[in-house]
Amino acid sequence: MFLRFTGAFALLSLLVPALAAAKPYLSSGDHSRLVNRLTCKVTDADPTVKIKPRKVVYGHSKKKKPLVAWIVEPAKENRDEAQNVYLIGAQHGDERTTSRALDYFVRELKLVSDDYRNERRIIVIPLYNPDGYKRNDRFANERIDLNRDFPSSDGAEGAPNAKETQAFMRLMEKYPANLIYNLHQPFRVVLYYPEHEEIAKPFGLLSDYPLGSDVGYPTPGSLGTWAREQKIPIITVELSRSMKKAMAPFIYEEIRLALFHASFGCIPRSARNSQLERYLAE
Ligand SMILES: [Zn+2]
Repeated sequence: MFLRFTGAFALLSLLVPALAAAKPYLSSGDHSRLVNRLTCKVTDADPTVKIKPRKVVYGHSKKKKPLVAWIVEPAKENRDEAQNVYLIGAQHGDERTTSRALDYFVRELKLVSDDYRNERRIIVIPLYNPDGYKRNDRFANERIDLNRDFPSSDGAEGAPNAKETQAFMRLMEKYPANLIYNLHQPFRVVLYYPEHEEIAKPFGLLSDYPLGSDVGYPTPGSLGTWAREQKIPIITVELSRSMKKAMAPFIYEEIRLALFHASFGCIPRSARNSQLERYLAE
């Protein structure tokens, strides 16, 4: 999505070496120390009772495909002050690995002890644009770019115009967003606005993706632009390049700990175990 911006950033990086040098890579030892530090402080979690994400059909696409969200409710004692965290994949239908990665993530949520639910309501939308996905096309029907269809101050006339966006806005009326992670491809970078740097950093460190800032390069009508105007923190994660199905488990493996941390605010202990071999055997 940030094609213009990325090109400009690359140019800027050449001109300003400090920007290019600001990428924080960790050694494997430092990485495991970070994972230890970010592991949830939940003691004696009962491993027999697992999280059960609830499947919610929040609308239908133009071609009448269900728009599905998987919702993990907050722990009972936190219902009143729930923080709604959204993870979104495949706004652009041809960025297929984003959707597959979130499918894996939903499967792994079901392996986590129920004791890890906290004040967050985790809302995962693996396939935001099912019509585009089916055609392997960036756009929804009528050539609408779903990441340019938000009613931001610079948005398109009449936005939101697509049924998919309208349904998503209704979902956000029910569960107002406190934090959004929007997954795209293929630039392998964590993009953030300066005021959200502290949120972006752990995602970058855990995934080993570089951080990038999109200051000054408008993407009119994007979810990012709209959310920023609404003062909703939003991180756009551009996954690695390959859209091949065979590569999806590997690309998911890059970001899985970051997704858990993004969702729970910490990493559930059992989630530290990779499921990669299981996916490769399928
Ligand atoms: Zn995209």
